[in-house]
Amino acid sequence: MKLFKKFLKIVFTLFGALLITILLLLGIDKHRTSYLKLKNNEFTKNDTYLIKKVNIIPMNIDTILVDKMVFVKKGIIQKIADSIDIKGVEIIEAKDKYLTPGLIDMHVHIWDRYELGLYLSNGITAVRNLWGMPMHLRLKEDVNNDEIISPMFFTTGPKLTGPEFIGDDNLQLTNPNEAKEKVRSYKHRGYDFIKTYYGLTEDIFNAVVEQAIISDIDIIAHPSQKVPYSYHFNPQIKSIEHAEEIIQQPLNYNLLDTLKLRQVINEFKNSKHNSFTPTLTVYNNIYQMLIDDKILESEKLQFMNPLIKKVDSKAQFERWYNTKLRDSSIVKTIKRQHDFHLKIVKQLHETGTRIICGTDAGIGVTIPGFSIHQELKFYKEAGLSNYEVLKTATVNASKTHSIMSNLGTIEVGKLANLMLLDNNPLLDLSALQHPSIVFIKGRKLNRGSLDNFEKQARNRKNLIASAVRYLENLIFEK
Ligand SMILES: [Zn+2]
Repeated sequence: MKLFKKFLKIVFTLFGALLITILLLLGIDKHRTSYLKLKNNEFTKNDTYLIKKVNIIPMNIDTILVDKMVFVKKGIIQKIADSIDIKGVEIIEAKDKYLTPGLIDMHVHIWDRYELGLYLSNGITAVRNLWGMPMHLRLKEDVNNDEIISPMFFTTGPKLTGPEFIGDDNLQLTNPNEAKEKVRSYKHRGYDFIKTYYGLTEDIFNAVVEQAIISDIDIIAHPSQKVPYSYHFNPQIKSIEHAEEIIQQPLNYNLLDTLKLRQVINEFKNSKHNSFTPTLTVYNNIYQMLIDDKILESEKLQFMNPLIKKVDSKAQFERWYNTKLRDSSIVKTIKRQHDFHLKIVKQLHETGTRIICGTDAGIGVTIPGFSIHQELKFYKEAGLSNYEVLKTATVNASKTHSIMSNLGTIEVGKLANLMLLDNNPLLDLSALQHPSIVFIKGRKLNRGSLDNFEKQARNRKNLIASAVRYLENLIFEK
């Protein structure tokens, strides 16, 4: 008995020590990102301004409002006019500059708080996180309570998949009742959206949709190959992800099956409820890995979360490297498919499908923040005008979900999530790359602060803290 007591004591002590270490590690990681805390950002205290002599690209109409004044009060756009007479507020002189809505990346995977600064520094004032974990609920709370300066943060719950095991990062559902229970609980716990994933079987898929309608929560679908593609045009599904899934599923990798493609395009045309997120960058990055054997050591990879870099980026690179060794024609095949994605985007755009910009940043070698400029470039290459390209990352995103409707345009009553640019992005999209000021809920971040966010995120050392948060997800979310 005495021995057993002693044994228990040792177990409890070890367990306690482990728990304290874990909490300490998480605390230190959070503390290291305290440069994002509102109270540590001198410039962000004010959220009331008069912006003078600015050229506005409002994005609700295809025009530029030249030489205007914009009054932002407590983070909301109050007035836009030729002249506004208000005393006692901070003035921002913006002669010859361009004011646009902040960008929105509709498909990201967030692993730590450093990434929030990277999104901001690239002009991104809202993100939709598509692989929700408990850490994201805590993050969302801090963002919504104005504890930290961050893009507006929206997140799905864990990825829902069917009974078949396809990786420990998914929530495996075994029956329709369990599916309904999960949807209810995600809504209750504060996740913004449901994410349906690869592998959902018909009865479970239907149960998820049915409950999402009852619980009034939007669905974002990574298409499941276990149900026909047409199932994803359900009005409760607000966006369908990935151009490559059109090729994998309805086309069954046959790029010559124009009849099938036409059918899918028509389904998008007839459906008025679904936006489409192409995520061209993440797929093209396979090609980039294949043509650049040194990509893991590249400058940009320094901005990747260290856990992802060590595990996912490396595994993806090795997988494609080995495939190339076995069969060098893979390089051409991947490039051909990427080019085909551009054709899909062009055709969907021409038939009136609402395209929303999503990068899939945060996994593989797709870098948070910076990748959005590449994604927008691809839409341009596909044949969209600069105005149409900019719509994908602003107003189109805000039309996709009702909870985003106060974003995406410069209009009275909208949230002052804005970018001040030196050049006109409707002439050249590269003007979006280094905003001189980013406003988030009317709070001003100048280039100095934004550059500092990048500096802080470079080669960060939070591998173990990231692993602990991932482990937390595996243990408590199952
Ligand atoms: Zn993704």
